[in-house]
Amino acid sequence: MWQTIFIRRLPGTFFPAAEVFSQAAHFHQHMLSLYVHIPFCRSRCNYCDFFLVTRLDHLDAYFKALSLETALRSGELKGRTVNAIHFGGGTPSLVPLHYLVAWLEQISALCTFADDIEIAFEANPEDLEDRVMKDMRAAGITRMSLGVQSFVPEKLASLGRRHTSSQAADVTSAASGIFNSVSVDLICGVPGETAAMWVSDLHAALELLPQHISVYMLSLEPKTLLHRNVSTGLVTVPDEGVQASMYELALAKLEPQGYLHYEVSNFCLPGHHSRYNLASWKREEYLGFGPSAHSFLRSSAEEIRFANVSSLLRYIAKPGKVLAFREKLSDEERFTEQVFLSLRINSGLDVEFLRKENKLGHRLSQTIDRFAGKGWVRLHDGRLYLTGKGFLFADLIAGELIFG
Ligand code: SF4
Repeated sequence: MWQTIFIRRLPGTFFPAAEVFSQAAHFHQHMLSLYVHIPFCRSRCNYCDFFLVTRLDHLDAYFKALSLETALRSGELKGRTVNAIHFGGGTPSLVPLHYLVAWLEQISALCTFADDIEIAFEANPEDLEDRVMKDMRAAGITRMSLGVQSFVPEKLASLGRRHTSSQAADVTSAASGIFNSVSVDLICGVPGETAAMWVSDLHAALELLPQHISVYMLSLEPKTLLHRNVSTGLVTVPDEGVQASMYELALAKLEPQGYLHYEVSNFCLPGHHSRYNLASWKREEYLGFGPSAHSFLRSSAEEIRFANVSSLLRYIAKPGKVLAFREKLSDEERFTEQVFLSLRINSGLDVEFLRKENKLGHRLSQTIDRFAGKGWVRLHDGRLYLTGKGFLFADLIAGELIFG
């Protein structure tokens, strides 16, 4: 459900870094976050390229494998305090809750849960009844992330979603009375979408008062049905200019209502950022379980990234033992990641850090001045922040700041 996309802020608006991160003061360094990939969906939405299967016949075998992988990772969990757990997918809400409760019991015996741990759960509106949500809350889930995508029937049909507009609204409203934080995902730039439809989506979301809103611009991923339909001319998507103006509309609607723009695609009321996602953008450690799940671990000597294989059958055959890759990051890779990720969130990038490692040498200041002259970056207290306009060029800016 989580899409990587390219979005922008309104020109002239800047990150309220202090605001979000004072609220996030409890976001401890050296804590560990966990991600569990639940690779099952009822059907594949036409724009989605995540790793998943649309049959449930391996559900039981998957959870047995997940338990074996968890036991295998006990050494990496030992002595660690876990601050956030994120059940993503796929569609976690498709899975009977007892499987997840059993996994939570297993993992809680292998590490320490922070007192205020966030346990987040991605769900589709069509799966959630009040009773189910109350059971989830009783099982320890604190945050509900709803794959709403739209409240407009035409957009839901265009995206191939299975829920109705009223289901989305009813579930969001009910979830708000049950969980500490409720997040709503919205997508703009859908085939056939008008500005009026997008405004209607934003208003519908705001009326429901979720604590967190993610705004994605539809991206055309290779090998998806949507990509094929656009390539063959069956449907057209709004062009980049229209998408950018839709994003500007989102900023204009959300920020005045108190939603902090804390990451490229994410807005929250103070204190309601996604802990797991923010940890990954801040290069804090996380351990991923399940097929295709990524991990990032750090010791005093090294930083490593690895990912499980994107195959359910291979995962089930040898849980946690078949990796898609495992790499130790070089100093240069660490630096590059830090620059790209820091520019993505609203705490910005330390210019002294950038000065020590980049390849521009004395031309760094000139480059920053050039970007500032274009209105793409802003310097404040020794940190560099992208402006709204700058987000349109985030990768280009990061690349030039590193490599010249
Ligand atoms: S429900 Fe989410 S994960 Fe499943 S196919 Fe649709 S977008 Fe992808």
